[in-house]
Amino acid sequence: MPDALRESIRQVEKTRDARLARLRRGETFPSLTLADRKAWLEEFHPDFSPDGKRKLRAGASKGQEVPVELANCLESWPRKSVLDRVGAPLEADYAADVVILGGGGAGTAAAIAAAEAGASVLMLTKLRHGDSNTVMAEGGIQVADQECDSPVQHYLDILGGGHFSNNPALVEVLVREGPRVLRWLEELGMLFDKYPTGRMIVRHGGGTSRKRLHAAGDVTGLEMMRVIRDKAESYPGIRVLEFTAAVELLTDENGRTVGVLGEQLLKASRSLVVKAKAVVMATGGFGRLHLQGFPTSNHYGATADGLVMAYRAGLPLRDLQYCQYHPTGIAFPEEKAGLLLTEKFRGLGAPFLNRHGDEFVYSLEPRDVTTAAIIRECVEFQNGVKTPGGGVGVWLDIPLIDLLHGRGTIEKEFPGRFQEFSRKGIDIREVPLLAYPTLHYQNGGVVIDVDGRTDMPGLFAAGEVTGGVHGRNRLMGNALLEILVFGKKAGGAAAEMARNNGWGGAPGLGHLEPFLEVLESEGVSRSVTGPVLLPKYPLAETKEKRKDPFGPTPRRRGSGGN
Ligand SMILES: Cc1cc2nc3c(=O)[nH]c(=O)nc-3n(C[C@H](O)[C@H](O)[C@H](O)COP(=O)(O)OP(=O)(O)OC[C@H]3O[C@@H](n4cnc5c(N)ncnc54)[C@H](O)[C@@H]3O)c2cc1C
Repeated sequence: MPDALRESIRQVEKTRDARLARLRRGETFPSLTLADRKAWLEEFHPDFSPDGKRKLRAGASKGQEVPVELANCLESWPRKSVLDRVGAPLEADYAADVVILGGGGAGTAAAIAAAEAGASVLMLTKLRHGDSNTVMAEGGIQVADQECDSPVQHYLDILGGGHFSNNPALVEVLVREGPRVLRWLEELGMLFDKYPTGRMIVRHGGGTSRKRLHAAGDVTGLEMMRVIRDKAESYPGIRVLEFTAAVELLTDENGRTVGVLGEQLLKASRSLVVKAKAVVMATGGFGRLHLQGFPTSNHYGATADGLVMAYRAGLPLRDLQYCQYHPTGIAFPEEKAGLLLTEKFRGLGAPFLNRHGDEFVYSLEPRDVTTAAIIRECVEFQNGVKTPGGGVGVWLDIPLIDLLHGRGTIEKEFPGRFQEFSRKGIDIREVPLLAYPTLHYQNGGVVIDVDGRTDMPGLFAAGEVTGGVHGRNRLMGNALLEILVFGKKAGGAAAEMARNNGWGGAPGLGHLEPFLEVLESEGVSRSVTGPVLLPKYPLAETKEKRKDPFGPTPRRRGSGGN
């Protein structure tokens, strides 16, 4: 640990005993009033930055404000491999009843459900099967299965966390299906954290009224993906094309989705035509667009591809003006900037402290509020801790966890992060870690119904690419539940459609024409193409960013850039 940080750590150590004593008496830092939450969000959360958004000029959500980087993707020209095929007859290279786009949790759950319903399934996935945000999930999955809890309580928490902007019908399905999904995962062999009696260990997540977070150490997504991928592999009816990206939907003369154009990334971008009776989009989120220059916790392939394809096909999008910046991205060591420190650290009692070692926010506020509080502390009050590379962060006092719950808790609960930091010579049982908000989750997306149906016949969607479940703000642990609940629903409904409706008409790209006309009339440069597929990190730019790992300093709204 560099000397500059050691000095501030000493301040943290000075205040620790008093904080521990208060916690033992059951006293916590006061939570914010609803009015204060609103004020802090509006003044400090990146969603409210005046330069962060712009209105869409084209498409079904024309006039809606979305992050600038996303707007540029949504209003991009198709890739060359697509434009070359517009108007040409398309011979199918592959065909299946149900084609799944994306090999993360939602796509894999959809594949299993479709195969169980008797459909032949083909999954196109951009990287390897399982390379995804799902596999990176750390903290856990929320399910109301305890005596003191209920799906109703879970439902109310989700609506409150989402600022009452969620689609209540989707939330109802989510919470009702939770206990069934948990049993399914157990049957598949997922190893959850349990007491010696066999009872599940449950924890608090930010913004939740009950302990309902079920975890597998701090590698919950990895363990979940292990069992569902094994299950998918056990079905001979599921084929997987890895390193194959979907780049455009294919439609017939009636506007039904009847397949997808793909690109094989490892074979000099060979273009593929895939025919389907139904398609499930499960392409995940957009963290790698690095909104406002923020670092991200997301996997390499999170580049909004599904949103681009769906939007070009005429589908409306919702809630994309609100993004989730996770309060605890790693701020030091700087080469890890943006990677995640799970919310479970907060759930087990680690508080946020400024450079003087003082608490400044109740640590279990919802994520958006906590993010605003950290930015306020660093920008408004200049109470953040400067990192050697020019970044800033606040302390997450992790050693307090062992003092509260007994020596060994940190190693047991956070084996992944414990080992990772040990390799860097940082013992997280002994020293706090520096954290700063990181771009984490795409709250909104494609509009779906309770069966994962979109407004376009033949197209279903599930997981992070969709909007409505979480409204404007997701509470921790609900995404892992969502991808399984709605992945299964979408896969099952797609298989049913395939069975009832058979093949559609000839696949084509006719749906692109009106959209391309608007791009032309709006003067969008043809050099802007999408979907992005993989982010580019040009060396010179990346070196420049390393000097300021957090991008432009977040500003207080209307402050003129202080
Ligand atoms: C670090 C981290 C920790 C998290 N921790 C938690 C947690 O503890 N609890 C919780 O509930 N949630 C957590 N989340 C959120 C949660 O993991 C994700 O929202 C969820 O797993 C998304 O699942 P998905 O299947 O929709 O997308 P993903 O799992 O991201 O899968 C998307 C798939 O689509 C593929 N793909 C993308 N574009 C294309 C294309 N053009 N063609 C073909 N394939 C494509 C990708 O390669 C990938 O395989 C976390 C997220 C991150 C990043």
